[in-house]
Amino acid sequence: MTGAVLEVKCLVKRFGGLIATDHVSLEVRPGEVHALIGPNGAGKSTLINQLCGELVPDEGAVFLGGQDVTAASVPDRVALGLGRTFQITNLLTEMSVRDNIAMAVQARMGRNFRIWDAVARRRALWAETDGLLAGTALDTRAHVPVAGLSHGEKKQLELLVALARKPQLLLLDEPMAGLGAAESHEMIVSLRQVAQATPMLLVEHDMEAVFALATRISVLVYGRIIASGSVEEIRANPEVREAYLGAEDELC
Ligand code: ADP
Ligand code: MG
Repeated sequence: MTGAVLEVKCLVKRFGGLIATDHVSLEVRPGEVHALIGPNGAGKSTLINQLCGELVPDEGAVFLGGQDVTAASVPDRVALGLGRTFQITNLLTEMSVRDNIAMAVQARMGRNFRIWDAVARRRALWAETDGLLAGTALDTRAHVPVAGLSHGEKKQLELLVALARKPQLLLLDEPMAGLGAAESHEMIVSLRQVAQATPMLLVEHDMEAVFALATRISVLVYGRIIASGSVEEIRANPEVREAYLGAEDELC
């Protein structure tokens, strides 16, 4: 037992002759934001899909909270506390911000706990929904339909919907994708806040976000982790600079 929230052991995934995940091992421990970086085609999405249960690995094992979930379905992993946000939006566009969050809260309450009194149940549902919204970037946008939100606001809402399920671990696949500078900054602030309570595996191209959020960075190239360490260690690693980060001035 290592106490890791997520443990990946020697994972392998082949597509024909291509080895997209090449004996990958990594961990996410309580309190950590483990960032996974690497160039296009490195195998980041393939790895995330195996962690979610959407893709079956050829070799190796995945543990959530110490439990072997290598063969578990997507819903079983969600029930064990795996949360994720999607690159493709997964919101009900005609419903309001508040209703989208309430739906996610209700889905969790229905599964995990029972209050038989309907009035008390509704009160608990809205109290929790409003608690999730309070102090966030969407606090003043609670009654706006999703269709009326900016791209950045939709991404913020996806994060809140994922949090409504009280995950033990969040998988984030490029949360900064398509965001402008101000929206990216807002997302970094939100993720920092979330990270205080929820450990994360963060796949992200935006190095400013990675350096701002990560407690550990692993670098994936051609399906293999070529380096793993603190922000300082990765910034200083010559192999990483050459393979991925490029010219020195890009690091500043
Ligand atoms: P990244 O997310 O880091 O850009 P991917 O995981 O999408 O990388 O892809 C890793 C490699 O696996 C690429 O060479 C890609 O073409 C290949 N690949 C991904 N999915 C499939 C698939 N379903 N069938 C065949 N090859 C795939
Ligand atoms: Mg990808």
